[in-house]
Amino acid sequence: MKNQKINYDSVLKKMIKQWELAQKKPTILIHTCCAPCSTHTLEFMSEHAEVTLFFSNSNIHPKSEYLRRLAEQQRFVDEFNENTNHQVKLIVDEYRPSVFNKMVLENQLENEKEGGARCTACFNMRLDLVAQKAQELGYDYFGSALTISPKKNAALINQIGMDIQKIYGTHYLPSDFKKNKGYERSIQMCKEYDIYRQCYCGCVFSAKQQGIDLKKVNREAKEYLANQ
Ligand code: SF4
Ligand code: SF4
Repeated sequence: MKNQKINYDSVLKKMIKQWELAQKKPTILIHTCCAPCSTHTLEFMSEHAEVTLFFSNSNIHPKSEYLRRLAEQQRFVDEFNENTNHQVKLIVDEYRPSVFNKMVLENQLENEKEGGARCTACFNMRLDLVAQKAQELGYDYFGSALTISPKKNAALINQIGMDIQKIYGTHYLPSDFKKNKGYERSIQMCKEYDIYRQCYCGCVFSAKQQGIDLKKVNREAKEYLANQ
């Protein structure tokens, strides 16, 4: 069966049913790349599991923008916990942009279009890091909030996750969080929590391809951070 044909949403629903039958709430470490995609993902998954978010995004450029997205992520988690009585934690990985940029340049991926081979390598890097961390900390599952984004290839992300789980002692959580109006709910939650939505995915390569004014991004991020 081709991977595109797998309905990852129903795979997840079946898993949730099994947890419910076993009266179990597994521990899950979910990769998040910024607050918008984590909104509904968190709302949905924290009803069924003990969720921790993992912010590991060395792809984001410039650093001020990385810090802005991280601050928004932390604010959302804090407000979500306050509003829902959940106790979601946020683990922040080290920021190593040179590692990401080196990987892109060494593999000559800088001119790849968004959605191409550079993005596959980027998903791979971040899913590998979340799997490693999940194994290190003894989580039952690792997963990604990115499958909520209609701009991201959920089948590809799930395939990478399934491949990575073969080399770690933790399981991948299949998902397609955009289904069941998940994406629409994320837009609504972004409004409710007044969450910053960025205008480019994150790396310097896609920002340049899109003609993003990175000086403006840097200036606005610094202003935001100064007002924290
Ligand atoms: S896909 Fe875009 S909106 Fe979603 S978490 Fe990543 S950067 Fe944020
Ligand atoms: S466009 Fe986004 S997913 Fe693709 S390489 Fe850049 S940061 Fe990563």
